[in-house]
Amino acid sequence: MLFKPTFWLKSVLDINEKFLRENGVTALVLDLDNTLSMHGNPAAEEGVTEWLDEMRRLGIRMRVVSNNTNKRVAPLAAKLGLPFTANGAKPLTFGITRAMKAMGADKSETLVVGDQIFTDVMGGNFKGVRTVLVEPFHLEKTWTFRLKRKAESLVFHRDYSKLEIK
Ligand SMILES: [Mg+2]
Repeated sequence: MLFKPTFWLKSVLDINEKFLRENGVTALVLDLDNTLSMHGNPAAEEGVTEWLDEMRRLGIRMRVVSNNTNKRVAPLAAKLGLPFTANGAKPLTFGITRAMKAMGADKSETLVVGDQIFTDVMGGNFKGVRTVLVEPFHLEKTWTFRLKRKAESLVFHRDYSKLEIK
C-alpha cells in the first residue's frame, strides 16, 4: 500500500531512543517544511534543535531531503547543521537514494520522515524504506495544499479537524 506509513506519530519529537532501538533505526531521511519547521519559516519549530542534538548524541545519521528549492532549504539546513538535498522530487526516489548513499545507510536501518502522504510516505514506500508520517506543524491555506490535504484525508481518513489552522 503506497499511501500507508509504517508509523504515524504526532511529531518528529516523538522519535526517541526507545523507538529507534526497538525498530533498529540508525538513519533518518528528514523532510523540512512542516516536519522540522513551519512552511516558509526561517527557524526550526520549538524543540527541534534539542531533538537534533539528542539524535546526534545517539549516533543517528540524518539528512534533509526536501522538495523545496535550494533557496529555502539551504539556510535552514545550515542553521540546523544538517546536510541536505533540495528539489528532492519526492515521491521519486533519487533524493532519498542520494541521502541514504551519503549516510552509508541501508534500507533496513533507515526511516523516511515527513508530513505528506503523497511525497514523503510514497517516496519511502517506492524506495522500500519504512516511513513515519508526522502531523504537519502548520496547515497551509492555499488551495493546492487544501486540495492535497483533502485528497489525503479521503485516502487515509486523516483527521485534521482537531488541528488549528492559522
Ligand atoms: Mg513537508
